[in-house]
Amino acid sequence: MRRSISFLALCCFSALASANQATTPIAIVIHGGAGTINKSQMTEAQEQAYHATLKHAVETGYAVLEKGGSSVDAVTAAVLIMEDSPLFNAGKGAVYTYDEGHELDASIMRGDNLMAGAVSGVTVVKNPVLLARSVMEKSEHVMLSGAGAEQFAKEQGLELVENSYFDTEFRYDALKKAKQSMQKVPHQAQNYRLKAPWLPEWNMGTVGAVAMDRSGLLTAATSTGGMTAKRYGRIGDAPIIGAGNFADNGSCAVSATGHGEFFIRYRVASDICARVKYQGISADKAADQVIQQELAKVGGTGGVILIDHKGKVGWSFNTEGMYRAKKTEGEATISEIFKESSAK
Ligand code: ASP
Repeated sequence: MRRSISFLALCCFSALASANQATTPIAIVIHGGAGTINKSQMTEAQEQAYHATLKHAVETGYAVLEKGGSSVDAVTAAVLIMEDSPLFNAGKGAVYTYDEGHELDASIMRGDNLMAGAVSGVTVVKNPVLLARSVMEKSEHVMLSGAGAEQFAKEQGLELVENSYFDTEFRYDALKKAKQSMQKVPHQAQNYRLKAPWLPEWNMGTVGAVAMDRSGLLTAATSTGGMTAKRYGRIGDAPIIGAGNFADNGSCAVSATGHGEFFIRYRVASDICARVKYQGISADKAADQVIQQELAKVGGTGGVILIDHKGKVGWSFNTEGMYRAKKTEGEATISEIFKESSAK
């Protein structure tokens, strides 16, 4: 009798577990940076190139989820494609520092056990997201920087490149323009104040991805070259857990892009998830509160992509545009650039 009761309990449990499994949606959202993205300043060919790369990245990540892969693998796959594309300010195509080099930041976080990995100021690691992931999975630390991070990359067998690998003409022109503007406001250049003349378009192109897999695991990843003309080892929000990146299965996963100093001070990613967790509001609403109200009123420009613990995806930005794409179950891929929805 006791045996048949426990057998019954086991059956109920597995039925519940598989029902739960069957209803867990899979989804992925990516971004390729927020800023002043003006349709009139873009050629049709440029627009198409962004849409094509965004779609390729989001669909590659989705394919991982569809095959039963983890959201950690899905966001890594999506971010890798954008890091390897010169269109974005991450990996190849990263912005220039004041000294005409590149210093890259990246992070990744999983929402089940809140494990995270981040790297900052790396100069020779081809794909910083892979290094951030190695920090999360193969080290006992959360954040490594500069030469030490590169030593770890070498030990992990990650691909290293010359710093000039990240060069692009477009980003070099942006550096020249930034320096000219700095000269026009000498006291700001001297004191290195991060007010105007820093324009959102000078750092535009950070990349990120958030996803939920069949097991309900949320993961977020962010990667960037930071801000054009940055100096003195400046680190942005992208590698700071809770600022530019956050994932918690109990609330949501967020990847951010924008003026990093604001995103650090307003701990944007974790604030959004905290609102979901403690106020019980939707992730969309929480993101709008933080991006459209808190940040907008102090001049913090940028945006976020997100996915909540039920697999609902969203985004919010207070700039003219944000490169973004999403793929959810049963829906076609959507990629957008400008504020008004011009889905492709
Ligand atoms: N948030 C990045 C940083 O400040 C830049 C960006 O997302 O555009 O480093």
